[in-house]
Amino acid sequence: MRLDRFLNRKLRLGSKGVRLLLLEKRVSVGGVIVKDGRLEVTEFCRVVADGEVLQDKAALYVMLNKPVGCVSGRRDPIYPSALERIDIPGSDSLHTAGRLDLNTTGLLILTNDGTWSRRLTDPRSKKPKVYRVETSEPISIECERRFAEGIHLLPEDIVTQPAGMERLGDREARLTIYEGRYRQIKRMFWRFENKVVALHRERMGEIALDPALVPGEYRLLGREEIASV
Ligand code: URA
Repeated sequence: MRLDRFLNRKLRLGSKGVRLLLLEKRVSVGGVIVKDGRLEVTEFCRVVADGEVLQDKAALYVMLNKPVGCVSGRRDPIYPSALERIDIPGSDSLHTAGRLDLNTTGLLILTNDGTWSRRLTDPRSKKPKVYRVETSEPISIECERRFAEGIHLLPEDIVTQPAGMERLGDREARLTIYEGRYRQIKRMFWRFENKVVALHRERMGEIALDPALVPGEYRLLGREEIASV
């Protein structure tokens, strides 16, 4: 949002009042005096006017090694939420960037920055999501070939982006998909009457699960990881 609109909304001074406030150098954004009301401010910019802090919210980016048996949404009538594990100031504002099923493990990214998480998860941004998959039946050549062509999914009526498969064993593979539809991998395998018995997310975009995190542990993302999205 533009700074002048932000100030008007917060202080109700009218556009003339806001212009004056800016011209008299009484407003700072991120510690820098700003006179131009056209500056774009995000929800994470610290804005101060006449010494009064109008906005000061830290952006949070967290990776969790999700264990089995917790949901990635905020609330569930039966199971605990993965979000309850995050014990840092401001954690109540977090949401999940790309959900995992109850029994899927591995990389779960949590943030309070909606613009950032949309960039990571929007199918149009085609960020790779890498999973280790174990199936009940051997993975057929036909399955591998059809995954590479794209699988038609209902009810969305979409064809998935070509998925990359690296075979790790008869019933085990590393799969790279480029969107994150509801239960996408399980539905893709189910097309070939093959059941996914274990699923573990290793990477989203450039962000890989930190091998130092045991299931249930988390850490803040680093500067480069945040900037990679
Ligand atoms: N695909 C699935 O089927 N489940 C997940 O948790 C993630 C991707």
